[in-house]
Amino acid sequence: MASTTATPLGTHPGDYIDDVMNQVKAKNPAEPEFHQAVQEVLDSLRLVLKRHPEYQSGRILERIVEPERLIMFRVPWFDDHGAMRINRGYRIEMNSAIGPYKGGLRFHPSVNLGILKFLAFEQVFKNSLTTLMMGGGKGGSDFDPKGKSDNEVMRFCQSFMTELSRHIGPDTDVPAGDIGVGGREIGFLFGQYKRLRNEFTGVLTGKGLNWGGSLIRPEATGYGCVYFAAEMLKTRKDSLDGKLCLVSGSGNVSQYTVEKLLDLGAKPISLSDSSGAIFDPDGIDREKLAWVKELKNARRGRIREYADRFKKATFKPADGALDHNPLWTIKADCAFPSATQNEINAKDASNLVSNGVKVVAEGANMPSSADATKTFLDAAILYGPAKAANAGGVATSGLEMAQNSMRLSWTREEVDKRLHGIMASIHKTCFETAETYGTPGNLVNGANIGGFLKVANAMLDQGLV
Ligand code: NDP
Repeated sequence: MASTTATPLGTHPGDYIDDVMNQVKAKNPAEPEFHQAVQEVLDSLRLVLKRHPEYQSGRILERIVEPERLIMFRVPWFDDHGAMRINRGYRIEMNSAIGPYKGGLRFHPSVNLGILKFLAFEQVFKNSLTTLMMGGGKGGSDFDPKGKSDNEVMRFCQSFMTELSRHIGPDTDVPAGDIGVGGREIGFLFGQYKRLRNEFTGVLTGKGLNWGGSLIRPEATGYGCVYFAAEMLKTRKDSLDGKLCLVSGSGNVSQYTVEKLLDLGAKPISLSDSSGAIFDPDGIDREKLAWVKELKNARRGRIREYADRFKKATFKPADGALDHNPLWTIKADCAFPSATQNEINAKDASNLVSNGVKVVAEGANMPSSADATKTFLDAAILYGPAKAANAGGVATSGLEMAQNSMRLSWTREEVDKRLHGIMASIHKTCFETAETYGTPGNLVNGANIGGFLKVANAMLDQGLV
């Protein structure tokens, strides 16, 4: 078994990276998603360490894979029948070299330490790419909001925030939403923070418009992902106009991805949730999208109802026994995975490529397995990795923080213009960095290296902390 003690690591850059990876696996057993996220970044950094030995002598890699602080806590609450329920809460404060910790909260039964560590790690590089001053963090709970009443969700959120409030603050750590945490949950969390601390501050983003929220924040991840796809297509003198687009998920990111695709003349033809996927050959137009928003955000229903309501659409239930997801076998030009991690495996990726998909833009975090990513890169399609393509959400959270600090609100047009500009600049950074480091067109390397350099330099400047 590999040693977990801090043994001296290899001196050659390649050995150093392999040694760091081995230590990560030994010190963080049974956290496959965290290993996957770290491996991908370290592989890209092989190109950097050859040119910049200072990152190795400054032990930046060993430091960047270690959370600055990891908080785990009990969340007790009463359900509507008066029964006691106990969940586990987490906050991973990963890296604060370039700003206060920033990243969402996820409420989903699959949440565990390894998943949140992968998300917090990714967030560090993503936030750096936005050009705003935000460190990286992530948190959440294994609480499942599905099937719970509003009062149960409120009691859970109040209990969760009672502990979390000790650790966060507008200049320390600023959480936001993620899977299972939308406007309703942010409202309950904010209310409890305000009650406990007796202060009205920008301690969370994704707030309601009447109490410090920013216009375009709910739309930002989906809109930003589509802007990123448009930037990728521009490099091949192409556009989204008329493109058939697969979208997975049907939550926040998926809904606003569909909306922006419609704005730009594309034809979205699918959506999904954990029960299965719908395919609509006629396309999901604005009227159908409004119906989906009502289904998912107000009624909290299942996507299969879409096929009952719109007769040309078909529904395929999720089938864990299959070695592939039927959603990714539908012929299309572009794919926007927007549900969850590892929703595209190697088989799915080769199905997409052999069906002629030209663009994959990741709205979800790490939706492609390592093999799937390799398939996209080998096929030289336009592949926008999550930490670049879905950075619009956190970028607009950064804009919400700026508006809160100034105590003013920008117009919808102003925020959208800034979001668009940030997505174009993230694409430019990834594109140019990939070229500089000798792998033109490889936006995975571009995003990993582009995000890393700023954080690593800040860490060197700030000494051994
Ligand atoms: P929502 O909770 O609004 O929606 C999540 C969607 O994904 C739902 O349709 C859900 O289906 C589906 N889903 C979740 N888990 C699974 C699973 N294990 N298997 C199948 N389907 C699943 O979350 P968001 O839209 O906010 O987040 C979606 C993705 O985007 C996540 O990866 C998140 O980390 C990422 N992201 C979100 C940002 C944001 O601003 N919200 C910012 C950047 C990234 P069901 O309802 O059945 O659970």
